[in-house]
Amino acid sequence: MNAQPAASLFINGRPVEGEGDALSVRYPFTGEEIAALREASLEQVALACQVAADAQPEWAAMAPVDRGRVLTRAAAIIRERNEELSRLETLDTGKPIQETLIADWESGAQALEFFGGLAATLTGQMIPLGQDWAYTRREALGVCAGIGAWNYPSQIACWKAAPALVMGNAMVFKPSEETPLGALKLAEILIEAGLPAGVFNVVQGRGGVGAALTTDANVDKVSLTGSVPTGRKVYAAAAEGMRHVTMELGGKSPLIVFDDANLENAVSAAINANFYSSGQICSNGTRVFLQEGIRERFLDRLAERVRNVRMGDPLDPETQHGPIVSPIQADKIRAAIQAGQEAGASLLCGGGGEGAFIPPTVFVDATDDMSITRDEIFGPVMTTLAFYDEDEVVRRANDTGFGLAAGVFTQDLTRAHRVISRLQAGTCWINTYNLTPVEMPFGGVKMSGLGRENSAAAIEHYSQLKSVYVGMGDVEAPY
Ligand code: NAD
Repeated sequence: MNAQPAASLFINGRPVEGEGDALSVRYPFTGEEIAALREASLEQVALACQVAADAQPEWAAMAPVDRGRVLTRAAAIIRERNEELSRLETLDTGKPIQETLIADWESGAQALEFFGGLAATLTGQMIPLGQDWAYTRREALGVCAGIGAWNYPSQIACWKAAPALVMGNAMVFKPSEETPLGALKLAEILIEAGLPAGVFNVVQGRGGVGAALTTDANVDKVSLTGSVPTGRKVYAAAAEGMRHVTMELGGKSPLIVFDDANLENAVSAAINANFYSSGQICSNGTRVFLQEGIRERFLDRLAERVRNVRMGDPLDPETQHGPIVSPIQADKIRAAIQAGQEAGASLLCGGGGEGAFIPPTVFVDATDDMSITRDEIFGPVMTTLAFYDEDEVVRRANDTGFGLAAGVFTQDLTRAHRVISRLQAGTCWINTYNLTPVEMPFGGVKMSGLGRENSAAAIEHYSQLKSVYVGMGDVEAPY
């Protein structure tokens, strides 16, 4: 299989070959090389940022509605090519084609469509002050660096590019070194949709290239999707230049199932919240708290349904559960599973699996202090925990440094909202899980991050306010 792009980087409106270290792209299902790329050299990173800085003022000077039209055109092109793009996403990530066809580029198209449509509404405020008045202008930040994770590479690129570009920013995007292909397609599509050259650029590379972007003198904002340890480094580096940041980081989110929950829906949600994309989702509800009255029935039904999972070739439309993105990640997940067993938790189903595959894995008899309960595993591993009452579960659910997401299953309307109001999480669901429509702000609290993606709220994180006082009368001075 060959997925070799025209060149590794995309700078100033065209493909450019990287001059840094080699970057081999492998299809996670077979391990075969599907593209041989090169990282950007540090000079190329600086060049991409300079090109973006040069292109940005003219782009920002365009009428917002004209900028918006470019984004909505790009969304239409993505939809026309969804099949081909989804196949590439599957080759890059190993995720089943039945997922990538509906969840990856489609979500990216929705972001481009949403922010494109928002363009004409991006206004300031008029503030009456008696005779005088003031107004605000919402202005671009300048050059935004986007740095992505490997689980939703094209969606992440679109979620960052769409609000940044519609506000008149330019962007230099670095995809994860594991999944570098989708962002290059986005760059091509944006040019085809009418984006001026230099406004969206792609550089490839590992952490060093990300670090160089974060401290480049032309960069005004860094938006990272990644782990907490990387987030700490990027936030600290950005602080030195007083750069804005958005941090979409990891999680260990609670999914709380009360006795009165609809059993079948709760089990479905727990499956989606743990095993979709082979569990490689930041907002996953990996601590499933089960109230004592429903616990056994829930686990029986879960085990029954998980047995039917179809694992295999991700390009087969019937496949529901694909490989992990890389052998290194698969080994990390296996080590986490083994640590859970050694700590005394037992497996309801699943386990280490073989090669690139880790089957849906469910732990029972876990306790709050075990690593399988405390640490993000980023694989298909669910930890179930028993609980008795509401206060107890809220306390235990909040007993984590993370705060990305949370879910509650109950038929009791007041309890649902009461519990959600007490949970320390940025993105919450009642009687469903992991739905992230573009209309709804998405992001975390505590160590899970800063800022929000999606919705009009994202605009605030890609813009700054200018206040303008307008004097309408004479100016008095004391002498
Ligand atoms: P990672 O932190 O290892 O890498 C993320 C990105 O940061 C990569 O592109 C990497 O090259 C880059 N990077 C690494 N070191 C850097 C540095 N010093 N400076 C700048 N950039 C650097 O994360 P990952 O393994 O690719 O992704 C998995 C993590 O991402 C999980 O923790 C997951 O929860 C999180 N994630 C969060 C969200 C969200 O929206 N909150 C979404 C997806 C994934």
